Amino acid sequence: MTNLKKTDVLQTNDPFLEQKKNELLVAVYDNHYEAFEKIYKDILKHAQSKSEFSENTEKLLNQIQTLFKKFKPALLKNCTPSIKETNNRLKDLILFSIKKLSRNIIHINFNTWETNLDLSHQQKELLYKTAMTFQLTSGCSNYCRRCNEWALPGVRSHFSHHAVLKILKQMADQGNDEISLYGASDPLDWEENEKTISDIIDYLDTLKLEYSLLTKVPKTKESLLKTLLKKHSNLSVSITSKNKARIKKIEQDFENPISKQHDLEELLIPAGLDEDFVTINPSITDGYGVEVTPDGAFIIIPTFTSALHPFGHKKIQVTSKTNFFPIKKTGRKALLVDYFKPIEGYDLKQKRYYLDYLLDVQIESIILDNGEYELTPPGMRSLKEYLFIFEEKPRIQRKKMTLSVLKRLKRQFVLTTGFKKLSARNKELYLKKIKAHLNFCKKANCRSLKLFAISFFLESISNYVLKNPIKTKMMQFLLKDEKKLVFKTLTKKISHASPEDLLISPDIDSFYIFRFYIFSLMNKSNDTNANDTNNSAILKFIKAYPSVYDPVADIFTHH
Ligand code: SF4
Repeated sequence: MTNLKKTDVLQTNDPFLEQKKNELLVAVYDNHYEAFEKIYKDILKHAQSKSEFSENTEKLLNQIQTLFKKFKPALLKNCTPSIKETNNRLKDLILFSIKKLSRNIIHINFNTWETNLDLSHQQKELLYKTAMTFQLTSGCSNYCRRCNEWALPGVRSHFSHHAVLKILKQMADQGNDEISLYGASDPLDWEENEKTISDIIDYLDTLKLEYSLLTKVPKTKESLLKTLLKKHSNLSVSITSKNKARIKKIEQDFENPISKQHDLEELLIPAGLDEDFVTINPSITDGYGVEVTPDGAFIIIPTFTSALHPFGHKKIQVTSKTNFFPIKKTGRKALLVDYFKPIEGYDLKQKRYYLDYLLDVQIESIILDNGEYELTPPGMRSLKEYLFIFEEKPRIQRKKMTLSVLKRLKRQFVLTTGFKKLSARNKELYLKKIKAHLNFCKKANCRSLKLFAISFFLESISNYVLKNPIKTKMMQFLLKDEKKLVFKTLTKKISHASPEDLLISPDIDSFYIFRFYIFSLMNKSNDTNANDTNNSAILKFIKAYPSVYDPVADIFTHH
């Protein structure tokens, strides 16, 4: 594994409508209704210039319409009367596009899809290797409003049968071992002439590629569900308050239990169209990897669900410029990823390496992670929990576990070959891992490693806020209550002490000091003298602890 120099890998500009959605929100958060109206008109103009909308364009337009609905009373009161007209025209354009596309459902063939992607051979191999979801259809007949994917109402297009088989085969050929057949559509919606998802499952049974299928069982697809159940397909039914009774009936007819998901009151999450644009919620995305859709392919990075990322993840379009593909991690493996550490992926020659910086979406997650227990699902580590590992109690526990850590490393590296026969690289790795553990058991080291970790995060945030004023303002709004509380509680305590002393002080939880510094950095644009003093202390601290992520030792350390 090698670290590359800082580049712009995966740091592409946000799509136009995503930028506009963010600008609209900042305008409404700040009560700048004139600005809101102007941006809304720009959006209408943009929509009018398109002959039809791609799936993601329509999803973003839907988010924009939903935010209009959410803030409608204030907008109608404070904007000119023409805002209503602008909104109606946008609504009509979307309705027109829905009607046009759903009346003429097309099947996308493989060559057209691949040509549109415009990828090299190496890029395609990586796309198929790291694909985690395969969305066979664009649009959803079920449209259950319970969709974090913001699925579009009504089926618009499908991959052709031939395209589906070809894409699955390419995935299997690239050693991809599992694919989820869902996304912003219900897999039971897929069809071409007489063929259904059942034919695709038959083909999958001939490949070395496991699949999973999650369905809400669209109303006309009940007999298809029975066919799939009869052939023991690997499917689960996602239960909502709407389909619960229907599924119970099918289960009784079928006389065998059906595998179900989300069948809990607390999991009947109102998502998608119920986004409120003012709160921060957990991510519902459970994987890092590529999403394949009729509209193209996207690298998915999970993040908290909020106005900034209503999907609960960031979609980065795979284009001819993409030269880094994150290692695919799904389910439990994805939960174990520390979202605040640089990502591991493949370069175009399929060599694995770690980025040496955080992606913008990861920095946003750090900023939004307010330490609330509910924000991180069980199994996922929050930043607050991460900072705790440098404290005395976990350090002593680590020290006690030294023997079993050494045994585990021995099993992993030398049990079969013996130390002498290890390759030079593995010898180095083995020794480095032992050293890293022993270092991490020493009190003084724990303190300095904690400072390096925090310095890395603060430096990332400091650079981010300079480049992203709109998104920073959005997060300031989303976190305004927490910020008020943190400033009120800590301003006095913090003003006379250095970050080094505060961050290792046993008397204050360093997570809250860290939050204080985040808010200070975010205030850069609307500086006051007090902020200025705090920020120069933070910048001095970042300089004193130049930091880099060491993936072998899995720590942040001196650069
Ligand atoms: S959750 Fe599934 S069934 Fe519901 S709208 Fe989204 S894709 Fe369709």
